[in-house]
Amino acid sequence: MVSHFGDGVTGLVNLGERSENCSLSLNMAGKKVTVAGWIQDTRNLGGIAFILLRDRTGVVQVTAVKKKMGDEIFSELTGIPRESILAVSGELKANDQVAGGFEILPDEFQILSQAETPLPLGIVDKVGVELDTRLNNRFLDLRKEQVLAVFQTRDLVLKGMREYLTGNGFIEVHTPKIVAAGAEGGSTLFPIEYFEKQAYLAQSSQLYKQMLMAAGFDRIYEIAPAYRAEQSDTVRHLAEFTSLDMEMSFIESSEDVMCVLEEMVAHTFDVVINHGIDQLDCLGVTLSKQKLPFPRVSFEKCIDMLSESGIKVQGDLDTEAEKKLGELMSEKHDSKLYFITDFPTELKKETFYAMRDPDNPHLTRYFDLAYKGEELVSGGQREHRYDVLVSQMQEMGANTDEFEFYLKAFKFGMPPHGGFGLGIERVLHMMLNLPNIRECVLFPRDMYRVVP
Ligand code: ATP
Ligand code: MG
Repeated sequence: MVSHFGDGVTGLVNLGERSENCSLSLNMAGKKVTVAGWIQDTRNLGGIAFILLRDRTGVVQVTAVKKKMGDEIFSELTGIPRESILAVSGELKANDQVAGGFEILPDEFQILSQAETPLPLGIVDKVGVELDTRLNNRFLDLRKEQVLAVFQTRDLVLKGMREYLTGNGFIEVHTPKIVAAGAEGGSTLFPIEYFEKQAYLAQSSQLYKQMLMAAGFDRIYEIAPAYRAEQSDTVRHLAEFTSLDMEMSFIESSEDVMCVLEEMVAHTFDVVINHGIDQLDCLGVTLSKQKLPFPRVSFEKCIDMLSESGIKVQGDLDTEAEKKLGELMSEKHDSKLYFITDFPTELKKETFYAMRDPDNPHLTRYFDLAYKGEELVSGGQREHRYDVLVSQMQEMGANTDEFEFYLKAFKFGMPPHGGFGLGIERVLHMMLNLPNIRECVLFPRDMYRVVP
């Protein structure tokens, strides 16, 4: 039998016979079990040694007694370097002196993979290590309990979002990531050689999800990588991030989109709060349920609020203004999450597909959702009228010939529609209060990093 030593989760090391759901527990006391995992630490007291064996479900103590094993085997077992993979068979014995309440008394063991020394990175050592060193040795860094907790939370966030969207009639789609035209402005496009043609890595699925509205898909979402050649080396920009894009038809205004978005976000918080108890605890994070609706404040009103507190804004909000706004929203509206609505047309120059306010063309029907000053989502109602869209593109200097494949979709029946793009890593960055967005990606890509 193969057993795992944490609670509840199975599926680590295949040692021949393998059964489902056989995590170690106290009620296996007296039985022989076989486990395999990484040697986290070995404490050798001379006649007795304690080996901590770890897998993704937890840590179990293997207690080796020299007298019982003989000198040679005892020193072989206790001499195996940390982070090697060891398989052990023996009796599971109750022992209330041990964390977890039991230990394994080994009869047999086998080294499945021996680790080199020294380790480039400690797994449980308390010494602080630079993020760069961690990322250079990411396969080791990912063995840390707290790092695993980030990715388990990421899994819950994605499950929560999918659950909400599926439950509300959205279907999951996948659009191309090799594209002929960018949707978010030329400055952050990664050009690629595509046979004889020039192509780019997709910055977002914007154009394609709109075409799916013309196709009558009605409600769709996509969770996929998006690529931005961001020249800014910040703690919240990646060159490759995971975007959740949603699009829905037959809306009356951007309010319809905001309602879906805030419900999805609140549901996601609930899922993490209810199912991520151990992970949040491991990361020292307390999350509270999000109250609906999130406050909605127009861009103009935000500028007034900032101005009252002594910050003058020229054009778009800079990082300082965004941060201050986050504080003001927390004070005035008691919410870390808030919508900034009615973005000025002037600030959405590259967003040629944004619908403008029919009563005031200087404003768009576009919003951002922010958390304590950090943008998580941009979205709004799109311009679905062919002629208006073409004239907005011309006004903004976009080459309409390049977008012919897209524009064509507006000529043969395009419903009013809207949607949003949400950065999954931005959501985790704020939810888990992590210092750097790179911690939310397994193998992050930025201006300087393309390896590992
Ligand atoms: P920002 O102003 O914060 O750079 P943006 O307005 O350029 O973002 P959008 O084009 O609105 O970004 O993209 C939608 C969402 O995708 C953003 O709200 C954000 O959550 C996420 N996102 C965009 N660019 C990045 C990036 N470089 N790294 C991580 N997430 C990103
Ligand atoms: Mg944006």
